[in-house]
Amino acid sequence: MTEVILCLDIGGTNCRFGLVDRESQIYGQKITATAALAEQGFMEGLVERLLRYVTRFGEQFRIRAISLGFPSTIDRTRRCVLSTPNIPGLDNIPVVDYLKERMQMPVFLERDVNMLLLHDIKCFGLLGEKIVVGIYFGTGIGNGIFINGDLLYGRNGVAGELGHIPQLQSHNQCGCGNPSCVEAMGGGKYLEELCEREFPGTRIKDVYRLHRDRPQIRAQVEAMGAAVACEVNILDPDYVILGGGLLQMADFPVDLLEQYIRKHTRKPHPERNLRLLFSQAGQENGVIGAGIYGWRMLSQQRFCSESGSAVPARA
Ligand SMILES: [Zn+2]
Repeated sequence: MTEVILCLDIGGTNCRFGLVDRESQIYGQKITATAALAEQGFMEGLVERLLRYVTRFGEQFRIRAISLGFPSTIDRTRRCVLSTPNIPGLDNIPVVDYLKERMQMPVFLERDVNMLLLHDIKCFGLLGEKIVVGIYFGTGIGNGIFINGDLLYGRNGVAGELGHIPQLQSHNQCGCGNPSCVEAMGGGKYLEELCEREFPGTRIKDVYRLHRDRPQIRAQVEAMGAAVACEVNILDPDYVILGGGLLQMADFPVDLLEQYIRKHTRKPHPERNLRLLFSQAGQENGVIGAGIYGWRMLSQQRFCSESGSAVPARA
């Protein structure tokens, strides 16, 4: 019987389910609207879907654990979701303890962006590299940092909040409450507001195709580039992986983004040897990444840095 991990990629709009084996093959994919889960209380809805899923696939596969990617900040023990800006009511929830008791199997929890990064690192064959960073431009700016084989967690578990570095010339209030975060000049939420205000009648999906040379759009792309350059200047990474919905939009100006990244990265190094990779878009990347994470946790090869205190559950 094939051994798998039941993996979830929880997003603001959809939750994706799948079973992932040790070779990162995925089976039994399913999508559920996040709002549907929240109807009876998110955690209750989640348990009901998980039980249904286990009943359906439990005879065909041996399900070893559950691995979940949340669009949230997570405490450094990787047991509790601290805050989830895009899903109401998902703040300060002891997700791991709750699900372990209800599901009677090991449960692993990680930020969705770290699951994406693990997927991409494996995809590009970079698991042996010293420093790899992933920067994903969606509604906000997601960032995962992989150092010496571990994910960087930080003292509170929230390392990698790259979207919230200050961009002093901006006066846009950020969703986090701070003034002038780079996300409020370079993220997708800002791009939508910009599109409505400056280009009425243009659908958001066409904004780069129709207006990529306009100064307002160039400034938004420059803010993206400044965020990437900031991380490169601090970490001098071996590889930078770029991805997210904005880069998948029609005629996204990749060349311009790279130009701005190089403009704001220190010369001659790290700019000279900068290695940028572009994530291959895939709806299942987050689910597969959760599988890679789960198998690593099950085998006790800890992902968390020494600064964290996550103790993986025993299989
Ligand atoms: Zn912010």
